[in-house]
This record gives sequence, structure tokens and C-alpha cells, in this order.
Amino acid sequence: MVKKKKSLKTGNLVIAAVIFTILISGALFVKDALAEKSRLAALEQQRQELMAEADKLTVGYYYDEALALLQGVENQELKSEAFLAKIAEIEELRNSLTLYTGRTYHVFFHSLIIDTELAFDDHGHPANGYNMWMTTATEFKRMLPLLLANDFVLYDITKFITANADGTVSKRDIYLPPGKKPLVISIDDVNYYNYMKTDGFADRLTVDENGKLATVVKDRQGNESITYDGDVMPILDSFVEEHPEFSYRGAKGVVALTGYQGAFGYRISDPELYSAEQFAQLRQQVQKIADTLHSTGWQIACHSYTHNQMWRNGTMTMEDLKSDLGRFDKYIRPYVGEVSVFISPFGVHFNSTDPIYQYIITQGKYNIYCPVGASMTTNYYSNSMIQNRLNLDGYTMISAPSRILDAGLFDPALVLDENRPPLKLQ
Ligand SMILES: [Zn+2]
Repeated sequence: MVKKKKSLKTGNLVIAAVIFTILISGALFVKDALAEKSRLAALEQQRQELMAEADKLTVGYYYDEALALLQGVENQELKSEAFLAKIAEIEELRNSLTLYTGRTYHVFFHSLIIDTELAFDDHGHPANGYNMWMTTATEFKRMLPLLLANDFVLYDITKFITANADGTVSKRDIYLPPGKKPLVISIDDVNYYNYMKTDGFADRLTVDENGKLATVVKDRQGNESITYDGDVMPILDSFVEEHPEFSYRGAKGVVALTGYQGAFGYRISDPELYSAEQFAQLRQQVQKIADTLHSTGWQIACHSYTHNQMWRNGTMTMEDLKSDLGRFDKYIRPYVGEVSVFISPFGVHFNSTDPIYQYIITQGKYNIYCPVGASMTTNYYSNSMIQNRLNLDGYTMISAPSRILDAGLFDPALVLDENRPPLKLQ
């Protein structure tokens, strides 16, 4: 009995050991399975994130970058069927880019009216002048979805040419998805002149705490606030953020500055108005704004320093011209970075062989010249490109809407601000 009992006891131990082993290995198996499951889930998440990032790049026409992202993946396990299909899809989009042979489109604005009551009250600057040559923020916001729906895509004006080392320029081919049309937008006189201060425009540009371009606006009591719809630039930035397909590889537009009242609302050409310390701060602020604009797809252009009548009435001598461009080079250019575009004051035209034109290009070191011309044509010369621009203001929208309609841009009737007074043609 004793022996039997003993062997029974041994038997129990063996059974217990077997059960224990089964339990442990079962637990290990379950643990392994769980680990494998979570590893696969992490892989799937990584895969989805990569594909989402590639999609985002693709919508903004960054095909090569999207492909490099996916094709650079080394982990073979990430390359699922869907992953490989995504690569094929992006390759197909990239291969569908077509040489653009259509006409060019370049439209321009001035700083936007944000308070129509103040702009059109006829106190300060004449209301009819604003009614003719300005656009309201409401109108600009209405245009953008129409331009997008009509297949326009913002294109960087500096990418229309290649600047060669010897000072010559060559026409550069434009490749876009079939049906898309390149659009350049420019904004003149982004200086927030004194005469506009009480007329319902932004006061100046700024960069917010997140590094984003913004407008500073003053209410009628003079209280300041930071807004994102006080002018063309922040409105377009927000629109492109929501609709990256409206911008070819991040392009936005061209911000044109004069110099006689500084830049972006900062009077950096009037040192006598400030202490040395204040003046240094203003210049720093201008640099910060220019850096922000450049890093978010904007170009900065010279719109002459003086915007003086001499530019259009034929009295400008070569000395006058030299002095004008020289002051831009002294007071503005060092603080706003690369400037290769010249946007002529009053939209004035010069023949490409005119000494004034040649001085602007060769001595002024500009290689793109933009006057005003409803044809929006672009012409290429040995050392420069001339691109005509259509003004999308009250004058064109009310008195010459066919210029906008015929170009297929949008129907001005869908855009015009109800708060405009009747236009008196000057
Ligand atoms: Zn101007």
C-alpha cells in the first residue's frame, strides 16, 4: 500500500509536471501570438502612415518625393500589395504630366479692403479710387474656389525661366497634369501706406508665434488684433492648406514692394523716425516676414522704390532710374532676400530694347518684368521674360468683365461685393 501510494504520488507529480509544461508552453504560445499580432499591427500602422504621407505629397504634385518616400522603405514586410499599388499609382500620375502649351495667366491685386464701410465712406482717399483699383477680401475669398474648379493651379513665376550663369535666360518647360493651367498671382504695393490707414485695410504683416504669416488689423478704436484674412497672402496660405491641389509644388504668388514707406507696413526706409534700437527691430521684423514668405512659396518683387509719376509720364531720366533702383537696393533689398522679379509701377511697358528696360534688367539684376496687360501674354528675351498681368479689381470686374470671362477665370457676377458703391468710370 505504502509503495502503491508512493507510486501514485510520483504519478501525480508527473501528471502535474506535464500539465504545467502544457500550460506554460500554451501561455508562451499565446504570448508569442499576441506579440506577433501587435508587431503586425505596428507594421500596418507604419504602412498606413507612409501611404498617407505619400498621398499628401502627391496631391501637392510632389511625385518624386512621394515615390522616394515609399521606394526608400527597406523593410520588405511593409511592402504589401496595397503599398506596391500605391507606388504604381503615383508613378502613373507622374508619367501623366504633360508639356503645357497653352496661354499663360497672371492676375494681380492690391492689398485687400477688409472694411468696406471705411473704404467707401469717401473720407480720406477717394472712395471711387478704391472702387476702381482695389478688391475686397470677400471677393478674393469667393474667387479662389472658382479658380480651383476651373482647373487653375498656382505656379511659381521664377520657374518659367532658367537663369544661366552668363546672365542669359532660357524658357523653361512647364509640365502639369493634363487639363491644369498655370496661374500666377501677384499683389502690388504691399507696403500699407499711410494714406490707407483709416480706410479699412490691414495695418501691417506679422509672423505669429507658430511661425505663420498673419495680418495685424486695427479696429476703429485703434485696438490691434492678429488675423488670417487681412490680405491676399494669409487667405491664400489657408486656402492652399485646405486645397493643396491648388498649388504646384507649394507655389503661392508674388508680393511686390515699393520702398518709400518701407516694406510690409514697417517704415524701414525712414531711420530718422526711430531710435537705432527700434529701427534695428523693424528691419529684423521685415527680414522675418520675408523669410516666412519665401519659405512658404512666395516670391518678393520690386515695384520701384518711388512709384513716382515719372515712371509713366516719360520724364524719367537714366539718373532718376538709377537713383530709384539704388534706393531699393539700399533700403529694401538687403532685408527681403532674393528679388529677381520687377513689377512695374502703373503697369508701365517698355520695349525690350529700351535703355530703361535694359538698365532695369542688367544693372537692377532682375530677369522677370511684369507690366499690366489684359492679354496676360508672356514673352521671352535673351536676358529676361516679360509677363503681362490682368487686374482683378472693381474696374475689370464691373466695366470689363469679359476679360475675366473670356480667359475662363470665373464669372465676376459671382464674386462682386454687394457693399461696393456704383462705379464712376474715370
Ligand atoms: Zn503700384
